[in-house]
Amino acid sequence: MNPPTCAHALAAAQAQGLDRLDAQLLLLHALGKPGDARAWLLAHDTDVLPEKPAEDFRAMCARRAAGEPLAYIVGSKEFFGLTLQVDARVLVPRPDTETLVDWALECLKAPAMPPKPAVLDLGTGSGAIALAIAYSLRATAHQARVVAVDASADALDVARDNAGRLGLSLDFIQSHWLKEVGEHFHLILSNPPYIASADPHLEALAYEPLTALAAGEDGLDDIREIVRQAPGHLLAGGWLLLEHGYDQAEAVCALLAQEGFVQVQSRLDLAGIARCSGGLWPGGQGIGAGFQTAG
Ligand code: GLN
Repeated sequence: MNPPTCAHALAAAQAQGLDRLDAQLLLLHALGKPGDARAWLLAHDTDVLPEKPAEDFRAMCARRAAGEPLAYIVGSKEFFGLTLQVDARVLVPRPDTETLVDWALECLKAPAMPPKPAVLDLGTGSGAIALAIAYSLRATAHQARVVAVDASADALDVARDNAGRLGLSLDFIQSHWLKEVGEHFHLILSNPPYIASADPHLEALAYEPLTALAAGEDGLDDIREIVRQAPGHLLAGGWLLLEHGYDQAEAVCALLAQEGFVQVQSRLDLAGIARCSGGLWPGGQGIGAGFQTAG
C-alpha cells in the first residue's frame, strides 16, 4: 500500500466513524500542530504522512472511536477562551457551563457588589469555572478572590496546574462541598454532579469520573446538599448559582425558594435550555449586616 496522505488518513478516520472535525484535530495533534491550524490540513491534503505521525494518528483514532473524549486524547480543552489541561482525573469542561460563568460575572459586576468580592467554586474539577472568573476580572475593579473546592485531591492537582500555567492565583481547599470551608462569600457557584444514577446517558460518559457526574436517584442529591449548606457561607445579599440538568430547573428553583433564597431565577444555555438556577441570600441571623446598601 502507498504511504497515506493527509487526505487518506482523514478519510480512513471518518470511515471508522469519527467526526470530520475530530479527525482533523487529532491529525493536527499527531503532527504537533495547534488545533487552529485546520487550514494547513486543507493546503497539505496530498502531503504524505511520515510514519510516526501516521501511527500516532491511527492509535488516537482508535481511542476516539471507542468513545474516549477528544479532550483527554489531546490533553486540553478550550473553556471561556482559556486553554485548560484536562485528563481522566476531571470532567471535560462543557460549553454549557459558560452560561454559569456569564451569569456569575454579571452578578459580580453589579453595583451592589463590593470591589474584590469573595467567590467560591464548588467541585472545581479542572478549575474551569474558577479560572474563567479570575481571568475575566483580573485587570478590573471587580478583581475577585476566588476559592476553588474539590473533594478529589487529584482534581485539585489538575486545577492547581492549570492556575499555574495561566498565571492566575486561586486558593484551593479539599472539601466535600462546604464541609471544610470556613469563611463567607459574596457568590458561590457550582457545576455539581446532576445526572440520575440510572440515567442511560451515563454510559456514553464512561471515560469521565462518575463522582463528577452522577448524584443519586433523581440526580439532585448534591444540589440538595449544596443548597442546604450554602446559606451558612453566604454574606447577606450573596448569590448561589448552580448548573443543573435540562429538566431540573423547576426542582432546583423550588429547593432554593424553600431554603429561603429570594430572586430565584434560571438562565438558558446556548441550546435554549434552562441550564442554571440561582438565588440571592437575603441574610438573617448571625452573619453580619451583609454588603447590600439600602434602597
Ligand atoms: N453536562 C454534563 C453532561 O450532561 C454533565 C455535567 C454534570 O453532571 N455536572 O454531559
